[in-house]
Amino acid sequence: MVSCALIFAVHHLRRIIFDRFLLENPMVYYLEKILSLLIMSAIVIFSGIGPWFYLGFLLPIVIATFIKGAGFGYRILVFSFAGHMLLYYLKLRDEIRTEGIRLTVDLLQAVAFYVLFCIAVYFFGKLYKCRIEDEISNKVKVEQYEERCMKLEQSGEEIKQKYDRLFSNSGKLEESNKVLSKSIAEFYTLNQISQAIGSILDIKELLKRLNDIILGVMGVSYSTIILYDENTGRLKVHTTNISNINELATITDNINSGVLMDALNRSESILENNVDYFQYIFTCGRNINSLMCIPLTTSSRKFGLILVEHTFNNAFDEENIRFLNIIAQQVGIVMENAELYYQMKEVARRDGLTGIYNRQYFQECLEVELNEAKKNNYPLSLAIFDVDHFKRFNDTYGHMFGDKVLISTVETVKAELRKGDMIARFGGEEFIILLPRTNLADALEKVETLRKKISENVIEDNLISASVTASFGISSFDECAFNENDLVRTADDALYEAKAAGRNCAMVARKLYEY
Ligand code: GH3
Ligand code: MG
Ligand code: MG
Repeated sequence: MVSCALIFAVHHLRRIIFDRFLLENPMVYYLEKILSLLIMSAIVIFSGIGPWFYLGFLLPIVIATFIKGAGFGYRILVFSFAGHMLLYYLKLRDEIRTEGIRLTVDLLQAVAFYVLFCIAVYFFGKLYKCRIEDEISNKVKVEQYEERCMKLEQSGEEIKQKYDRLFSNSGKLEESNKVLSKSIAEFYTLNQISQAIGSILDIKELLKRLNDIILGVMGVSYSTIILYDENTGRLKVHTTNISNINELATITDNINSGVLMDALNRSESILENNVDYFQYIFTCGRNINSLMCIPLTTSSRKFGLILVEHTFNNAFDEENIRFLNIIAQQVGIVMENAELYYQMKEVARRDGLTGIYNRQYFQECLEVELNEAKKNNYPLSLAIFDVDHFKRFNDTYGHMFGDKVLISTVETVKAELRKGDMIARFGGEEFIILLPRTNLADALEKVETLRKKISENVIEDNLISASVTASFGISSFDECAFNENDLVRTADDALYEAKAAGRNCAMVARKLYEY
């Protein structure tokens, strides 16, 4: 009993020492297992506990074999068996000395159990092998799996990097695409405007086309071109797509509002994305929520404004203002050029001394008027008058005074003409008058009035006071001539006759049936 208690105490101590401190070391583990088995051998040998206790050996043996393998199992079994036999010897040494070694039942049982342990070690050794193989294959699989995971992670990282690059590239591409599309749209619009400038000579027609282009390109609700009249100092709606009569009345009646006039005078744009109902008098009651106004000006001239309106809020931005300004600048230059061209053309059409049209332009107008007369079947008369003895007049009073007389004579005649009539300088002191919708008789009557007015017109200059007379020749479509040349020629012939008849008189061309 005492030895048993001692054995248990030692066993307990072993567990404390080994479990707490030494089990991590493989050698210690080995010794611990042998010691465990020796303790159990001691228990079974000295306590007389019975052969079933041997089964208790199995547990540490199979566990150790399963953990460390068959080799380990066999080794601890050999040491354990040796220890077991030694303990037997110690127990039975007196009997052995006296009686010699005998095969007892206990000994046979011990041997039999150790054979059983060998078999158990064999099987658990196999299990260990399977376990190790499984572990190895699992480890390989885990390594392969980890490798794949790493590769996947790497390729994922690469894909992510590529995607990031692609995304940033696509962002850049998108950005550059946007810039490109915008540039193309701007280029297209400017090209359209250039084409319109190239093909439309009439500036008013051009402004109508410009309004259509703005509407088409910007997709706005309304576009209105407003022109500034320098003579009246007021704005006037020139072109608009506003079709509603009430809305049209609102904008045309209130277009001279201070804000638009200020924008024009300061040559500044207006951008308003949240138009209040009563903010602008010209939008009042028109459901306009955004508007832009761009001045049509150059450095020296102000022509008007482009007013673009939208029913949506926040419809415009600075980009729209920038683009519309480019268009407005182009159109402003075109308008200035057109105005200069018109002025030059007007100068080229007019006579420098009297300011009336010259012979070239008269010829153009004659052609147009005659065609109109033919088309609309109304008479057209033409009169040529020549100042009588003007050479002598010049010689008497001087050329300067002669000029003044010519100017005054023209003014006298002009004052008597109707709105549709026309006077031009035919050359020297000869002038030509066109009287649409006037037959020969009426023309003669009119010319007689003119002749009298000329002769009654006294021209004064310092000490000089004088008057002139003029002789007239008259022809008429369709009584005397059918074409421009015949009209002029027959009128000239009639004038020659008037001169021959003594001057200060009017002669009519012979009528066609008289020939
Ligand atoms: P007739 O009654 O036959 O027409 O005699 P005339 O002297 O008027 O005719 P003529 O053709 O011989 O002379 C025309 C004159 O008109 C000669 C020219 O000095 C003068 N004359 C032509 N143009 C101008 C002008 O612009 N200013 C001035 N002061 N005189 C001009
Ligand atoms: Mg003359
Ligand atoms: Mg003459």
